[in-house]
Amino acid sequence: MLGNLRDKLSKTRLAFRQRLDGLVKSGKPREEILDELAEALILADVGVAAAEKIIEALRARTTKTAGFDEIQEALKADLAARLNRGTAGLRLSPAPAVVMAVGVNGGGKTTTLAKLARRFRDEGRKTGLAAADTFRAAAQEQLAIWGERLGLPVIQGRPGADPASVAFDAAQYAKAQSLDFLLVDTAGRIHTNTNLMLELEKIKRILGREIPGAPHEILLILDASTGQNALIQAREFLKVSGLTGIVLTKLDGTAKGGIVVAIADELGLPIKFVGTGETDEDLVEFTPAAFADALFT
Ligand code: GDP
Repeated sequence: MLGNLRDKLSKTRLAFRQRLDGLVKSGKPREEILDELAEALILADVGVAAAEKIIEALRARTTKTAGFDEIQEALKADLAARLNRGTAGLRLSPAPAVVMAVGVNGGGKTTTLAKLARRFRDEGRKTGLAAADTFRAAAQEQLAIWGERLGLPVIQGRPGADPASVAFDAAQYAKAQSLDFLLVDTAGRIHTNTNLMLELEKIKRILGREIPGAPHEILLILDASTGQNALIQAREFLKVSGLTGIVLTKLDGTAKGGIVVAIADELGLPIKFVGTGETDEDLVEFTPAAFADALFT
C-alpha cells in the first residue's frame, strides 16, 4: 500500500526534488535553502499561506547553521504534524452506518463511494449504495454500473425525483435489509444551482430522521489535480454543516500533491482517504507521516 502511494506521488515528488536536489550538496546557508524551499512548496500547490507557516516553523525548529539534511528532516516532521487533523479511516457506528459524499461534479464522488463499497464488501460488511443525484441521469447510471460490478444493491429514484425521497427509500432499505453500510451519492452542480446546499441539508435531515445519528460521515470529495482550485471548491462546500472529513482524489498523475498540505492547513478537517486511480482498489487510507515521507523519498 505504501509503496503504491509513493509510486502515485511520483510526479509531485519529482517536481519537488528537481528544485531541491541542487541544494543537497550546495552547502548554502539556511536562509537561502529556506527561500528555495518556499518556492518549491508553492510550486507543488502547498499555497502561499501554508508555505509561509511551514518556513517559519522550520526556522524555529532548526539551528542557524542547519544544512539541507537537517532542514529536510524538520520539514517532514512539520508536514506530518500539520497534516494530522484527526484520525484517518471512518467512524464505526452502529449499523447501518451512513456515509454521504458531497463535492463538485467530476471530483470523484461516485468512484470514491464505489471504492469504499468494495472495501466494505471485502471486509464482509453488508453494503448498499444510494444514487441521490437524480439531476443527472448519467450519475445514476454510473452508480448502477458500479453496483452491478461489485454485486451490491443500488437504490435509485426516477430522473428528476426529489433526491431526499431516494435518501428516504435507501434508509428504509438499509434498515429492512440490516445493512452495515449505506453509501449515499449526491449532486454537485455547484455553479448552476444555488439550491444545492438546501438539497444536501434536506437529504441529511431525512437520513437522520430515519436512522439515528445518520449521516455518520459526510465526506467532502476534492480533486487534487485541480490544485488550488480544490481549495476554492472546498470553501463552497464548507457551507454544508457537519462535514467529517475529506477524500482527496486523483493524486496519481498530478504534480500538485502539495495541495494536501494546503487543504489540511486551511480546512482543519481530517483527510481520511486519498484516491490514486480509477479502479475500485485505488483508495489509500491517509496517514500523515507516510504521506510526508512519500513526498520526499
Ligand atoms: P463525480 O461526478 O464527483 O461522481 O465524479 P466521478 O466519480 O464520476 O469521477 C469523475 C472522473 O474522475 C471519472 O472519470 C473517474 O474515473 C475519475 N476519477 C475518480 N477518482 C479518481 C482517482 O483517484 N484517480 C484518477 N486518476 N481518476 C479518478
